[in-house]
Amino acid sequence: RVTCRYSTAVSIEEPIAPSVPVNHTQLLINGQFVDAASGKTFPTLDPRTGDVIAHVAEGDAEDINRAVSAARKAFDEGPWPRMSGYERSKILLRFADLLEKHNDEIATLETWDNGKPYEQAARIEIPMVTRIIRYYAGWADKIHGLTVPADGAHHVQTLHEPIGVAGQIIPWNFPLLMFSWKIGPALACGNTIVLKTAEQTPLSALYASKLLYEAGLPPGVLNVVSGFGPTAGAALASHMEVDKLAFTGSTATGKAVLGLAAKSNLKSVTLELGGKSPFIICEDADVDQAVELAHLALFFNQGQCCCAGSRTYVHERIYDEFVEKSKARAMKRAVGDPFKGGIEQGPQIDSEQFEKIMKYIRSGIDSGATLETGGDRLGKKGFYIQPTVFSNVKEDMLIAQDEIFGPVQSILKFKDLSEVVKRANNSSYGLAAGVFTQNIDTANTLTRALRVGTVWINCYDVFDAAIPFGGYKMSGQGREKGIYSLQNYLQVKAVVTPLKNPSWL
Ligand code: NAD
Repeated sequence: RVTCRYSTAVSIEEPIAPSVPVNHTQLLINGQFVDAASGKTFPTLDPRTGDVIAHVAEGDAEDINRAVSAARKAFDEGPWPRMSGYERSKILLRFADLLEKHNDEIATLETWDNGKPYEQAARIEIPMVTRIIRYYAGWADKIHGLTVPADGAHHVQTLHEPIGVAGQIIPWNFPLLMFSWKIGPALACGNTIVLKTAEQTPLSALYASKLLYEAGLPPGVLNVVSGFGPTAGAALASHMEVDKLAFTGSTATGKAVLGLAAKSNLKSVTLELGGKSPFIICEDADVDQAVELAHLALFFNQGQCCCAGSRTYVHERIYDEFVEKSKARAMKRAVGDPFKGGIEQGPQIDSEQFEKIMKYIRSGIDSGATLETGGDRLGKKGFYIQPTVFSNVKEDMLIAQDEIFGPVQSILKFKDLSEVVKRANNSSYGLAAGVFTQNIDTANTLTRALRVGTVWINCYDVFDAAIPFGGYKMSGQGREKGIYSLQNYLQVKAVVTPLKNPSWL
């Protein structure tokens, strides 16, 4: 067992009390907060302690029916798909202003419900949510079809129309950011929505949705149902009146919802799923910079990122130095109460993820990887895990293959580029990759050879509203963000009119 000291592992035993009241715990249907039809609630927990923050209405199939009816009516009869893009844009921009005004309250709810560092929520994530909404507000009045040069005897144009009612299912790792990636493009294009939040993190979406109605959203355009996957989520995925499904979560659940969509009404589906992303550190890398970046790529958000750089491939010539410095960096990581200033890492989301990660750590030790640091829980309560680094990780070990979704770095050694490309691509996932090199030719070669949806060269986790994100292979279908996400929420209608005197043209 390795012993390690975390210089800033403080205030875990006496959590700081959040200063924001939890006002919204009901379902949001047709613009009103309402109880679940069953009257049931479920507790949402503070990952720092496992204590209950609030009891939240537990939506199930009946509530999904109510929410879909409201969204259907808002689409079929309401003003949202019929108003000009400019009017929709103005409402979204007012929403963004309100998000900015309430940034710190929302960030507090996000940290409390999820365990992520408050500084990360307040200074990075909620401002990114605002940026996403403004970005798609900018698109709302710029969506239009084409005039198509056809056979000379017809005038042909395309209309780009909203699809209808969008069902959206989101995970717990970036609760409000995932909410914004989903609702931004769907609303800009004129769709109406039923969104199911993750059962671990229902609070921030309810708060933000209230602000969207304050900004002038017509009733029923966005409906938010808190609840569990097999009940509320499955009912949404298989609903006959839902025209489109957008899902973010695990690959296993992605397959399940795709099946439900196929078996019901063949609604179109986009999927953002898991990953096991390689981060390739070449021999010409500045080792100190590479260590810092690889650390960020893995440990950001407690390691709970679908695109985490969870296979750190390091060239053999710099391997030993890299491992030594990565260990030192992990030991310095500031773990503690996420509400405290300067904290880099809070607790994992819940006991289930905590146990899963600890199992992977034991599997790494049992399969012969070298535990350089960490490997244990931190504190007596809550779900804190020590930043953990394994070296001498081999390709066939579970920790090199499965998505751990925790603060566990696996460092692998490589000799040459063609070998590392093969190993990097030898995964059922294909979400993202990082490349660290000073050689432009190496960067270009690796970029083209890697079968992934994003390549970060000499950087990692750079997200902007305009950059598309999504996976190759079993990491997903379709792209979110940027111009690409609009396609997920639009139908194309071809309109053909005969030209009476084609010879004049
Ligand atoms: P999950 O797939 O179980 O849950 C994601 C969402 O799907 C939640 O809202 C959940 O309630 C819902 N859901 C679950 N079962 C469903 C069903 N049968 N029908 C419809 N909806 C259903 O993922 P999770 O439990 O939140 O996390 C587990 C794993 O998922 C993680 O370890 C990681 O591998 C992956 N994950 C990936 C991302 C990503 O952004 N790609 C995000 C979070 C989690």
